[in-house]
Amino acid sequence: GEVHDPAVEVEETPPLAGANVMNIILVAAECAPWSKTGSGLGDVAGSLPKALARRGHRVMVVVPRYAEYAEPQYIGVQKKYKVDGQDMEVSYYHAYIDGVDFVFMDAAMFRHMQSDIYGGKRQCYKHVILAVDILKRMALFCKAAVEVPWYVPCGGVCYGDGNLVFIANDWHTALLPVYLKAYYRDNGLMSFTRSILVIHNIAHQGRGPLEDFRSVGLPDHYLNLFRLYDPVGGEHFNILAAGLKTADRVVSVSHGYAWEIKTVEGGWGLHGIINESDWKLQGIVNGIDTEEWNPENDVHLKSDGYTNYSIETLQSGKAQCKAALQKELGLPVREEVAVIGFIGRLDQQKGVDIIAEAIPWMVDQDVQLVMLGTGRQDLEELLRQFEAQHKDKVRGWVGFSVQTAHRITAGSDILLMPSRFEPCGLNQLYAMCYGTVPVVHAVGGLRDTVQPFNPFEETGLGWTFDSADASKLIHSLGSCLLTYREYKESWDGLRRRGMMQDLSWDNAAQKYEEALVAAKYQW
Ligand code: ADP
Repeated sequence: GEVHDPAVEVEETPPLAGANVMNIILVAAECAPWSKTGSGLGDVAGSLPKALARRGHRVMVVVPRYAEYAEPQYIGVQKKYKVDGQDMEVSYYHAYIDGVDFVFMDAAMFRHMQSDIYGGKRQCYKHVILAVDILKRMALFCKAAVEVPWYVPCGGVCYGDGNLVFIANDWHTALLPVYLKAYYRDNGLMSFTRSILVIHNIAHQGRGPLEDFRSVGLPDHYLNLFRLYDPVGGEHFNILAAGLKTADRVVSVSHGYAWEIKTVEGGWGLHGIINESDWKLQGIVNGIDTEEWNPENDVHLKSDGYTNYSIETLQSGKAQCKAALQKELGLPVREEVAVIGFIGRLDQQKGVDIIAEAIPWMVDQDVQLVMLGTGRQDLEELLRQFEAQHKDKVRGWVGFSVQTAHRITAGSDILLMPSRFEPCGLNQLYAMCYGTVPVVHAVGGLRDTVQPFNPFEETGLGWTFDSADASKLIHSLGSCLLTYREYKESWDGLRRRGMMQDLSWDNAAQKYEEALVAAKYQW
């Protein structure tokens, strides 16, 4: 008979990462599904590591243990670190899930913070138990995280510092590259270890008075890394500034955002530092969770008249979802009317007030507008008002409902995103996967991901407008509605091109791998 040689099979599936297999440790203040505040950061920490592991790397996530989680097991390692002159004990819990080592750092300071991850006023010592200064929490977290590769065995073996790259995220973990340099690299240790700092939102920087420097426990000559002057804050202590200067590479969550943070308007005081070493900076758009957001097997489309659909069943499937949405929301069930969706936090960033300004124009068109969101009270009130004034055309759903978000994404023809700024943005990506055409303000990640429709070449994915005001929105939406009504083939092409994209984390992970390799070899 045939000889079965297992070695041949092994050779047939080499790790995708090939010669660049790395030890990667992602360090973040939150990680889905255990901890998540609704920003993109938690999702990135939950998804990117798995995608990097699929590419053949050994990958760990380090995150604080804010509560008792089901999966992770105590692994019996305890260490002590000094923060602000006080001894702090940390210990570790571990879970191996989907090829990734999830390591949860336990410490008294993290407990009870599950619902208030970023809570704890700076310089506030009044509520010691529930509100320990977040600066100290993150200082402890980063100090200990740098040593995780030696003290925390995963599957019996520590990661060590060979071919090791840390991925830090936002200001909360921006101290990690600084500690790596100050405690180790300056002393000839961990000299081959590198760090990447990912910027999800540059508006938060860990600012404080210069005296805060005493809490982070660094040699005096490190103070200048943290010292920043800007017209708003004056001279102050800035953690993100120090992280940006010390990290080997910097990633922002889109190319558009990478460009914006170099400008005075978008850099929030850090544009100077970013420009000084802009060779370090690269934009990578986040991937999406294609298990949760996929019209073919979306669990939220399996009942109440909705249906799953794919690019092959787009016409009938989407029509059915639209009818189900209209029915569920009590809007007239009409196939030909354009359903326009909006989902998001109700605040200044998301441009709800811009939609408000455009409403009088919108209700003159043959459209139905469906809005879902929570946030600022005056804007919530605005949503309710729209609905009351235009019962047959507008639904303003105040609340947080994942199911409704999925159903609006599936049942709408158009998704509106007039965000004033948007580092990456996810809803436009979800929309395109569901054959829903985005109309967006061309900013940050929206600019990256929604290529404008070109009717002459039949290319592009949606409509973009170049400033966040109502007249621009109306102009774009008007052109979009015309195409929807009069040019069925173009509309169909737009939807299909949106659905055919690969927006998965696998795609994004490949780009992160390039950034990691660049950090490794300092390209
Ligand atoms: P941001 O992180 O700035 O809030 P993103 O577009 O990156 O905006 O991600 C927001 C996420 O939260 C999306 O997945 C969106 O669907 C979801 N979301 C926002 N508001 C609601 C809501 N009211 N109900 C359900 N999901 C929501």
